[in-house]
Amino acid sequence: MALTGDQFLVKEINKTVVLEAIRQHSPISRAVVCKITGLNKGTVSNLVNELIESHFVYETGPGESSGGRKPVILMLNSRAGFSIGINLKVHLISAILTDLQGTIIERIEVPLNTISQDDIYGHLKRTIQSLISKVPDSHYGVVGIGVAFPGTIDESGTILIAPTLKWKNVPLQKMLENDFSLPVVVNNEAKVGALGETEFGLGRDSTNMLYISIGHGIGASIMLNKELYRGQLGFSGEVGHTTFYIQGETCECGNVGCWQHYASVKPLLHQAAQIDGITEHLHRFGKTSPDMDVLVELAKEENKHVILLFESIGKNIGIGISNLVRILNPELVIIGGEMAAAEEWLIQPVTQMVKQRASLYYEKQLRILFSQLGDDAIFLGAASIAISQLFKKTRVTIN
Ligand SMILES: [Zn+2]
Repeated sequence: MALTGDQFLVKEINKTVVLEAIRQHSPISRAVVCKITGLNKGTVSNLVNELIESHFVYETGPGESSGGRKPVILMLNSRAGFSIGINLKVHLISAILTDLQGTIIERIEVPLNTISQDDIYGHLKRTIQSLISKVPDSHYGVVGIGVAFPGTIDESGTILIAPTLKWKNVPLQKMLENDFSLPVVVNNEAKVGALGETEFGLGRDSTNMLYISIGHGIGASIMLNKELYRGQLGFSGEVGHTTFYIQGETCECGNVGCWQHYASVKPLLHQAAQIDGITEHLHRFGKTSPDMDVLVELAKEENKHVILLFESIGKNIGIGISNLVRILNPELVIIGGEMAAAEEWLIQPVTQMVKQRASLYYEKQLRILFSQLGDDAIFLGAASIAISQLFKKTRVTIN
């Protein structure tokens, strides 16, 4: 019997539901898959067989029985393929190789001391090649590449503008697809980080969430009813370029007094470089200029100047968050990106400002948390986007 278009679609949707049940609950028996999905025994059995044939699922020895024959157990074949996740930042390429369950197999970090597009692209290509060379034997090999990038990116993965790196109209997704003949997804780092948090981190159980990635810039991702709010052109969440100080400094984006000039890692490092005696401390850590690691170490040593600096940046972060909270009324705000490493010194000034300026929201239910995955959320999110592309290709969407 040939399936009509609608029947085919229903079947593919059911297959997705079955795969998702196995992915989330494996080891799992067919009977429990029926119970979770509400599908009948025959349907589940057929779909599971197809998933086994396509190597996504495998069977293993008998599980616990509630009486009668012991059931065969189904497992997600997390090593059917591998995914590459990349977090491209102003001064660093972080890259990982993961299996289909998001377990990190290999990790590479490449420091960048250039913002030249050609140089960075060269580093990026070599990083990807090096990860590809480390892929274990598997049915699908590398299934895709996900890249998180700090900038405004359109649906085709073209970087329209990236003020911090000074890139404009770069079709990065197309370039990587051409060079590697693999599915590639390039997306904004905050959007990717939010996916990482909802898939692997603090955002798993929340419905309305705001994820704010604070690195050298600030980007946000708005999850409404568990869906990413993209905006009319897909440019939502450019909160770092909202006006914070009307007489402030001119930003690379063309605006004046953008929030990220007062609340990101960039002003933090700039002001840290002017702290009395900072040069001696830098020598001690073998550095020539301050970075997040050094500042966190100095704060741990209770360096008063550094703690005060975190406090003042933290207040500016909190003021911006209170504005966003009043607009969006989320249940959860996750602060991620490089800045999340300074949670210990930021949490108090951030929450103090939100309490002062958006008290009703704060008292009622709002939670403000710092990402425990930090930057890992971003490249785990990138890897998981690449994985969901694979399932889309087989007409099954995992997310
Ligand atoms: Zn700006």
